[in-house]
Amino acid sequence: MSTVKHSGNGALILIVDDNPVNLDVLSRRLERDGYRVEARDNALSLEAAVEILKPDAVLLDWMMPQRNGYDALIGLRELFDSNHLPVIMVTARDESDAVSSAINAGANDFVTKPIDFKVLNSRLSGVLARRAHVLNQDSHAAELERLVALRTASLQEANAMLAEEMHERSIAEARSQRLARTDTLTGLPNRFHFLETLKSWCNGESHSSFYLIHVDIDRFRTINSVHGPDAGDMVLKEVGKRLSELISADEMVARTAADEFSILTPSVANAEEAMLLAEAVLQTLEAPIRIFDRKIGLSVSIGVAPSGALPCNDKALLLSCDAAVCAGQAEGGDRIAMFDEDLAAKISENVIIKAELEAGIPRGEIVPYFQPTVSFITGQVEGAEVLARWMHPTRGLVSPAVFIPAAEETGLVDDLFWAMLPVACEQALRSSQTATLAVNLSPSQVLDQSFPQKVLGVLTSVGFPPRRLEIEMTETALFADINATKTALASLRNQGVGVALDDFGVGFSSLSLLRELPISKVKIDRSFVAEILHDESAAKLVKSIITLCKTIDLKVTAEGIEEEAVAVLLAEWGCDYGQGYWLGRPVPEFVLVSPWNAQLTRKVA
Ligand code: C2E
Ligand code: CA
Ligand code: CA
Repeated sequence: MSTVKHSGNGALILIVDDNPVNLDVLSRRLERDGYRVEARDNALSLEAAVEILKPDAVLLDWMMPQRNGYDALIGLRELFDSNHLPVIMVTARDESDAVSSAINAGANDFVTKPIDFKVLNSRLSGVLARRAHVLNQDSHAAELERLVALRTASLQEANAMLAEEMHERSIAEARSQRLARTDTLTGLPNRFHFLETLKSWCNGESHSSFYLIHVDIDRFRTINSVHGPDAGDMVLKEVGKRLSELISADEMVARTAADEFSILTPSVANAEEAMLLAEAVLQTLEAPIRIFDRKIGLSVSIGVAPSGALPCNDKALLLSCDAAVCAGQAEGGDRIAMFDEDLAAKISENVIIKAELEAGIPRGEIVPYFQPTVSFITGQVEGAEVLARWMHPTRGLVSPAVFIPAAEETGLVDDLFWAMLPVACEQALRSSQTATLAVNLSPSQVLDQSFPQKVLGVLTSVGFPPRRLEIEMTETALFADINATKTALASLRNQGVGVALDDFGVGFSSLSLLRELPISKVKIDRSFVAEILHDESAAKLVKSIITLCKTIDLKVTAEGIEEEAVAVLLAEWGCDYGQGYWLGRPVPEFVLVSPWNAQLTRKVA
């Protein structure tokens, strides 16, 4: 059995020949070889036929009467290129010119009559294979194009989204830039904005010299605690408003901390003019502020520093101004201080003290001194207050007035407290079985939530009964965060620890708050006690504090008793305890004898 070889594979061949016999023979022969065939006996409208039939190849006779093969080929090639529509010309053997014309006009190949079917078959397979290759390439190219188009489209979409996002982001950034530089409460530039400006001025970008005026509201926390935070906010707004009204266009006022405002002024010529501006600030802020139905009077401390005082850099300038403010506050606030050489010296001394203190605390250089507290009723020493002393290796004994403020500024006061507490407790345990021990607490320490637990931990570890411990705090400490403080104190009181309000009479001295706070004792400040013999108003005040405390069941200690007559008077007024140089100076030991015993004996005798 012989196999029939179908080389055509169903490819469609359009045969154009005016000779019907040729047409018939060719058609049948090609169909037998596996081709599909369409036949035309003329080349008129050949382009249209190709358009409709979409043949894979055209077999085109050269010599035809109405339209010859050459013209038809030219017509086809205007529409279909040789890669996609192969055309094989059929010529007579003697038409050798025809071959070259046909090839030039775009024929892919040729066969001569009489047709050798083997030759025709191989020419057809040749052109069809090339066309298949081209089509294959086309489809790859199309796929590639499709992919590229898709990718381009998605890139364009992504780009559009990105552009929109960038636009939105830049709007948001501009907004947050503005917000980040503005204090929301007062609408003034905030600390960030202020520092930025200060830095640029310090770099000489806008002004060669200027002054920095720093305003700190004295005891602002007390305003918050007493009148409420809303009133506090209104005060700050009013301060901001008054300061803005005071300064000129080329000056800047910013709110640089909770209760601090800073002014940069390039328009004052010298220190005197800067002081004049500072005085104007003081005056405008001292006019009472009306909040609801109340009038609130402010006191402020102002520091003034010239840009030329130090190598002009923003940090140094801020430090000098702070130092000036602190110097003013140390003298009771409500004043203006100019940064000068004395202050510069103090700052560098302060820096040295802080560094030495940091090293000294772990070395045990801070030791407890004990000052007795005497009961006016029994005449006995009922306890002692622990007062820190610094046994400095070269400076000798340093007063707490020097190092406690430095310790408070650096946070070292807490380390100092924990270093001294167990030592003092152990000494008290060795000296007496009942005497109380009073320790001083700095404002920042009360804000530590775990403070009560830590204290009880130390007491447990040294075996000191909580009932024998008393914590002394000033009003400033209480008001730092009145609610947190109340909670901390209440939990200490629950464990039996006593709480004394120290230095009472100076500062705010809110008698009504005495009832609310979980305190057990009030210590009247020594500045009044010392005066009771000579100053009637001091005497009245001390007497009424004692009376008030009695009615609300608080114990009272009078501090700073330097002479017997003062002690006698206080005892007469019903004061519970006394403390002072006459009753006993602070000493390194826990002393248990008191001169008040002798006084009592004399009285009985
Ligand atoms: P304070 O708590 O008011 O302590 C009483 C101060 O008055 C002590 O000064 C004491 O020596 C002094 N004093 C006592 N009796 C008299 C007197 O009759 N006349 C005079 N003129 N003064 C008398 P000191 O020891 O110099 O302490 C000063 C301040 O330093 C203390 O004031 C207290 O606020 C603080 N301080 C001392 N030790 C510590 C401590 O361990 N921690 C904390 N946070 N502060 C402490
Ligand atoms: Ca004290
Ligand atoms: Ca005191």
